[in-house]
Amino acid sequence: MRIRVLGAAAGGGFPQWNCGCPGCRAVRDGTRPTTPRTQSSIAVSPDGERWWLVNASPDVRTQLADSPALHPTGDRTTPLHGVLLTDAEIDHTLGLVLLREGRGVHVHATAATERTLRTGTSLLTTLERFCPVTWTEVVPGAEHDLGGLVYRAFDAPTAKHDRFAPPPAGSGTGTDGTGRVVGYRFTDPATGRFAVHLPGVQELTPAVLAEIDGADLLLVDGTTWFDDEMVRLGLAAKTAHDMGHLHVGGPGGSLERLGGLRVGRTVYVHINNTNPMLLDDSDERAEVEKAGALVGYDGLELEV
Ligand SMILES: [Zn+2]
Repeated sequence: MRIRVLGAAAGGGFPQWNCGCPGCRAVRDGTRPTTPRTQSSIAVSPDGERWWLVNASPDVRTQLADSPALHPTGDRTTPLHGVLLTDAEIDHTLGLVLLREGRGVHVHATAATERTLRTGTSLLTTLERFCPVTWTEVVPGAEHDLGGLVYRAFDAPTAKHDRFAPPPAGSGTGTDGTGRVVGYRFTDPATGRFAVHLPGVQELTPAVLAEIDGADLLLVDGTTWFDDEMVRLGLAAKTAHDMGHLHVGGPGGSLERLGGLRVGRTVYVHINNTNPMLLDDSDERAEVEKAGALVGYDGLELEV
């Protein structure tokens, strides 16, 4: 399978329009070496011809324009077959509305995510006014065959309060957090090799670690380096954990926690603009690379 990182930044992108943090400043004034990044999304394909997006970011238009494999193949015909969602975050779903010129959008999402999009953010209601929307319900633990590529979602449990989630109704719809945030395992059925995409994870629970272990490729949440990064910079009162993310560095960080797993290659994605590992000459970048991991960037092509 082929995977292309369309956008490696978290919500807001890098730089973020209203942010003057050291990283955002470095992009603008060139005082430190770094590369701008668009908002979090990847594209996955079994054969390089049929592609699915995982999350549709507000930057989807430029991301598709910058990806020759995803350009139209004919009169309003594109290699894009659908969009898989990991959650209902606005930064992961706003791009759906920007795909409205197509003949329709096919969305794969859990029941919890669909409910939030329909009755919480209402983004789905807006999209349906412009084009047909079809659905495949994603059930964590169940395999779905895309043809030459099989996905299986798994829960990434989060205690984060979701202000857009509608009141609970029935089982499996987010009453206990189930299905609100998921990761995806993509397996090549011919070889058994698999990639895991986990752009948002609050806790690396034993169940989540079991999903990751043995992966040939892991794309994982790199939102912040420090748990209190936003607090230190005076940008927010919330920690990364409060916002549903596990920090990368230091004791208990993902770099340490993932160190003992059997993973072919680890790539950080969904990186917030405040994360010092975005600066090419930072100690944090050196630490990631020393551990054999990679700080993801837009346009990065990976083969599994
Ligand atoms: Zn910033």
